Amino acid sequence: MTHRIERLPLGAGTPGTRREVMLHRFGAPGARPKAYFQAAIHADEIPALLAAHHLLRRLIEAEAEGAIRGEVVVAPFANPIGLDQQVNATHLGRHELGGGGNFNRNWPDLAPAAADKVAGKLTESEESNVATIRAALCEVVAEMTPLTQLDALRQVLAGQAVDADLVFDLHCDDDALMHLFVIPQHWPLAAGIAAELGCHAVMLSEDSGGGSFDEACSMPWVKLAGRYPDHPIPAACLASTVEFRGQREVSDKLAERDGAALFRSLQRHGVIAGDPGPLPEALCEATPLGACEFVKAPAPGVLSYEVALGERVEKDQVIAWLIDPAAEDPNAGRRAIRAGTAGLILSRRDRLYLQPGETLAKVVGSTPLAAPRAKNLLGD
Ligand SMILES: [Zn+2]
Repeated sequence: MTHRIERLPLGAGTPGTRREVMLHRFGAPGARPKAYFQAAIHADEIPALLAAHHLLRRLIEAEAEGAIRGEVVVAPFANPIGLDQQVNATHLGRHELGGGGNFNRNWPDLAPAAADKVAGKLTESEESNVATIRAALCEVVAEMTPLTQLDALRQVLAGQAVDADLVFDLHCDDDALMHLFVIPQHWPLAAGIAAELGCHAVMLSEDSGGGSFDEACSMPWVKLAGRYPDHPIPAACLASTVEFRGQREVSDKLAERDGAALFRSLQRHGVIAGDPGPLPEALCEATPLGACEFVKAPAPGVLSYEVALGERVEKDQVIAWLIDPAAEDPNAGRRAIRAGTAGLILSRRDRLYLQPGETLAKVVGSTPLAAPRAKNLLGD
């Protein structure tokens, strides 16, 4: 089966406009394992676009060599709505400007409707249950009735992903080291992917609180297993959010390495034939997302960091100064920002004038933080 390109139209555009999602397909439809990749659902996360570009080049080579065993679907730009959001020459790709919110929040929970569809159809065979549940999840997505173009985008993308064995949602952070998010049920299964990509942190959460795309794909399996405990139901969709460092790290060299790492992960999971070579040594262990401190700005101000990315800090160590330009006494206008946990400085901000409540750093600790945080762990 040759490399195919498919263009799925998004309805509900404004008059005179038309948008579509472009998909590259490799392998026989229905072949297993199936891997799905989408780049930059947060449309201004450009390193993800470049990683997908390099992955595609490798997949085309593999296809020519007859090495595709399973099925691979790649959406090289997952968010044509967000790619188009240029406001006064600034690209705003994280939130939908029409009021739809963060593009990677509020993905629908497919579990309740899928649970109803599989009632009475589950057996003692794990393999048969996986097939039944995949079909049900696809049906639930197909039955969605999108009202807005954003709804249509969600339906198209979820429709490609929900029956996959592997889902890679490709993102980047503000200014950050490579890291990964998966649900706890997929650790250590995802350890090879993390090592291959050179992740400095892997954060585990079943409910980051906002309805992220990866959880919309992986969690229905966990929920259905809870709903039907007498039937074998595995966590059959290993979905990850991959953060390709920071927004400004748009580099052909880095992205070529990233594309190669994604490709080798496909080889390790049997989607592509061939020897990926020895697995690189892991740079980190996984930690609960609840052990990652999202350090917030307590006031508006100008931020100056005291620590670099990748530094290990102690609890209460000063990691930055927040300067109030409106302070009458400039010395009194300097506020020390301290780490609330010992850990690794995983991410910092690029834009250094902050509003109160904005996250200014992520510090990856190893023990869950005592103070309860807002339900939406990842913030907006
Ligand atoms: Zn993102």
